[in-house]
Amino acid sequence: MPAPLTAEAAARPDTPAAPDAPAIECSSLVRIYRTEKLEVQALQGLDLRVEQGEFMALVGASGSGKSTLLGILSGLDAPSAGSVRVAGRELAGLTRKERLVYRRETVGFVWQSPPRNLLPQLTALENVALPQTYTGTGRRARRTRALDLLETMGVDYCRDRTPGQMSGGEQQRVAIAVALANSPAVLLADEPTGELDSDSARTVLAALRIASTEHNVTTLIVTHDEGVSAQVRRTVAIRDGRTATETLRPSAGRDDRRGTDDEAQGEHEAFEYAVIDRSGRLQLPPEFTEPLGIRDLVRLTREPGHIGVWPDRGSSEGAEEQKAASPEGTATAVNAASTTEESEA
Ligand code: ADP
Ligand code: MG
Repeated sequence: MPAPLTAEAAARPDTPAAPDAPAIECSSLVRIYRTEKLEVQALQGLDLRVEQGEFMALVGASGSGKSTLLGILSGLDAPSAGSVRVAGRELAGLTRKERLVYRRETVGFVWQSPPRNLLPQLTALENVALPQTYTGTGRRARRTRALDLLETMGVDYCRDRTPGQMSGGEQQRVAIAVALANSPAVLLADEPTGELDSDSARTVLAALRIASTEHNVTTLIVTHDEGVSAQVRRTVAIRDGRTATETLRPSAGRDDRRGTDDEAQGEHEAFEYAVIDRSGRLQLPPEFTEPLGIRDLVRLTREPGHIGVWPDRGSSEGAEEQKAASPEGTATAVNAASTTEESEA
């Protein structure tokens, strides 16, 4: 039976024409911050593809470029180079006005700090109703939708409270309701549980998952919290402004549509993949390279079913050189099957 076309879906202007187009697609994304004396390459050719309906996490050390990426995806910032498509729309060339409409209708965001997400003088109900005034929703419909969203997030009892009268966790759940108010295609959350105790963090994560499943919104969560990343099917790690590794937990998140067919893989068993970008670049983690003294140059060899990566004799010394001479000196074997495509299948 075909899914009924809801008024909500019909009204969403950015629903991509192609049903299986990715919700987010970044190609060779670059963001350079220039100050008088300094140039910081926060994103250095980042590739990322997020499918429609995915519920995923983005991790990485402080300064790796996570917030820069979310700033671009949320339409607050523009890339220096590269392409970024969200819900079928290229963001790089949007005018100011288009960007504003994009921010109101296509993406919703939840920031780390609860006070940043809500207007302090408005009640929870008024906060959720407010974004709908920008899209011309009638007063009655605004109120109905706001109440409905507060109920889905489990915070309808906070409807008449201002943010100062709510806990951090309650504020974040109201913030998710605000983010969903105009039925965005994509929900972005930057460390949404970063300032919460573990109980509140759990309820906020549960609320995000409900947002993703019941409101059919693609959800990207930036997090340091292993409790969050352990519960999503796919975690992408950023290192130095590029996507470096992907961890897949086939059984994580029973509500995740993408995770239903391989339940047999075992509870939360994780597979870590390195990401090969469009140019064939691959980041080798220091755990692999440092013991072998690998730096600057490596030798590649074609092996049956995998690729050998060998320390360059010139760049490694002493004991490292001996290791290089033995088969055990192979730095890493890239299984020919673990391409990016495969890890996304
Ligand atoms: P993360 O969120 O992963 O901690 P950010 O995206 O905030 O990382 O920052 C990535 C890099 O860009 C860091 O080196 C940071 O210092 C730099 N950076 C971020 N914002 C600015 C800015 N407005 N001006 C200059 N440098 C910036
Ligand atoms: Mg950040």
